[in-house]
Amino acid sequence: MPKLEKGILLYEGKAKKLFATTNPAEVIVYYKDDATAGNGAKKGTILNKGILNNKITGFLFEMLESSNIPTHHIRLLSEREALVKKVNIIPIEVVTRNIVAGSLSNKLLIPEGERLACPIVELYYKNDAAGDPPINYYHAKALNLATREQIDTMESYALRINEILSAFFAEKNLILVDFKLEFGIYNNEVILADEITPDTCRLWDSVTLEKMDKDRFRRDLGGVEDAYIEVCRRITN
Ligand code: UDP
Repeated sequence: MPKLEKGILLYEGKAKKLFATTNPAEVIVYYKDDATAGNGAKKGTILNKGILNNKITGFLFEMLESSNIPTHHIRLLSEREALVKKVNIIPIEVVTRNIVAGSLSNKLLIPEGERLACPIVELYYKNDAAGDPPINYYHAKALNLATREQIDTMESYALRINEILSAFFAEKNLILVDFKLEFGIYNNEVILADEITPDTCRLWDSVTLEKMDKDRFRRDLGGVEDAYIEVCRRITN
């Protein structure tokens, strides 16, 4: 295998940087410790978050691959870096919910913690300036964000991923409350991209119901670093 060279910075997001490699079909993701909430209104750092999130995503994406979910993950390169397939990100965030929390609780005036009769899948337009508004099939089609078929694929992957991850987390004494996924196009196929971490999932301890995710940062609950360390330990052990 030729030596992998980190090329130019292609993109810097809120939590990650993307670097070119000598292979145009592959890029390197670098996970930062930076944390934001409320669409960038709250900013901070979570010590070693980048290391933990790289490890957690690598582990979960490999698990999903082995359950026949195609992902962009190729391999971990270092503590904070992973080699991934270069995709065109579909600008739609796919949120799946098992238990009422966060924006759903605020919107429907249902207290956090109520289990839903079946999972809900929601679509949000990935657009910071517009505050990531909720959208449906019609918006996606009319704005050329994705085809109906691509959305159907993303939703069915989201529901399968929900089943796989809910069962896996349950074994680790964690409840998967809700989570956000992003997908990309690679060789004309929809594949899972971005990350699955305590930044993008709500995870509650199944015994104490303690929050073990980014809500600790969003809501100033303290113990943010320890929660990420504990989630990583439970997942990878
Ligand atoms: N989420 C995310 N990025 C976003 C918005 C939401 O990763 O830009 C995740 C969030 O961590 C949670 C789920 O998606 O696991 C549902 O979030 P919600 O709509 O309740 O929004 P929030 O209350 O976090 O603003």
